[in-house]
Amino acid sequence: MKALFDKVYSGIKLTRDDLIEMLSLEGEENLKALFERAYRIKKEEVGGKAYFRGIIELSNVCEKDCYYCGIRKSNTQVRRFLMGEDEIIETAQWVYEQNYGSLVLQAGEMRSPKFTEMIERVLKAIRQRTDDKLRVTLSLGEQDEETYARWLAAGAHRYLLRIETSNTQLYKRLHPEDHDIDIRLESLDALRRTGYQVGTGVMIGLPYQTVEDLADDILFFKQRDIDMIGMGPYIPHHDTPLPDLVEGVFDYDPERQLNLGLKMIAATRIFLRDVNIAATTALQALHAKGREMGLEAGANVIMPNATSTQYRESYQLYDGKPCLDENSGQCRGCLQHRVEYIGETIGFDEWGDSPHFVKRMATSG
Ligand code: SF4
Repeated sequence: MKALFDKVYSGIKLTRDDLIEMLSLEGEENLKALFERAYRIKKEEVGGKAYFRGIIELSNVCEKDCYYCGIRKSNTQVRRFLMGEDEIIETAQWVYEQNYGSLVLQAGEMRSPKFTEMIERVLKAIRQRTDDKLRVTLSLGEQDEETYARWLAAGAHRYLLRIETSNTQLYKRLHPEDHDIDIRLESLDALRRTGYQVGTGVMIGLPYQTVEDLADDILFFKQRDIDMIGMGPYIPHHDTPLPDLVEGVFDYDPERQLNLGLKMIAATRIFLRDVNIAATTALQALHAKGREMGLEAGANVIMPNATSTQYRESYQLYDGKPCLDENSGQCRGCLQHRVEYIGETIGFDEWGDSPHFVKRMATSG
């Protein structure tokens, strides 16, 4: 343990074994030391500000059937919705007027010319209404390269496409046969080629997942030169097949999930240093102060929900998602208070681009 911390403090290059050791740390003192180190690196590399990304969950219609997800296509218990174009654009304008600086448009995966065109129109309108001053992240799943390029040209800047796990065998266990990790990896390559600020992420504490898998996920982020990370603990959803599939072989322990989620943030910050890392809502589902704990473990991005409360009940990827009945204004006030309480400031009216991306652009010629 001492050797690990000596290495972390001296800045010597860390190995896969070091990551495994970090992710296996237990005990209050050790975790405190890990989070403090990660927090210091965050301050040095990306500053002590939390950046807000107002998120609009614009549709829960999805063509995919991931075994862990509450809005998977086979879940007949969900009331499906697709927000109207005007409603999305007006909500985006609200995000801009709140001085958030950045917006995320997220939905289940839909691949059709109609959907591509709708998003394109929405992006153009948002750009016009906000004088091109809002940074826009898309999180709309696997699409072809031409679609990615059209959306980039229409006003998007960043794209988040989570791989959920870099372990191919584990990916197969969590998805139906026709969900192919190679297509997902190719989509990440396409996003990079197209010119996006590229984000990915994983689920933490999945059934059958080992700390070695999580260490490999961090190595994957490094190897792919990823700019932004959005990852959170696995939380079961009652209307999905995964809890039944793993009954008897997986003990869901919320405290373990929370600690593993925080350790993963800290290890990723220590290893990758200058990327943006989100403190995701799933952390808050496990602990009332989960998102603040994420910031204190090395995350620097928070995504206040800007979606109208009428849709939130229908956009639950996992059980116990917080803030379902808080309107967007309440979310803003609540999160601002939470961030300021831990002594951080919020980068209002700032884009908060990933420093890793900024450096990547500066050296790309
Ligand atoms: S995880 Fe994403 S792609 Fe999979 S079912 Fe849920 S929304 Fe669809």
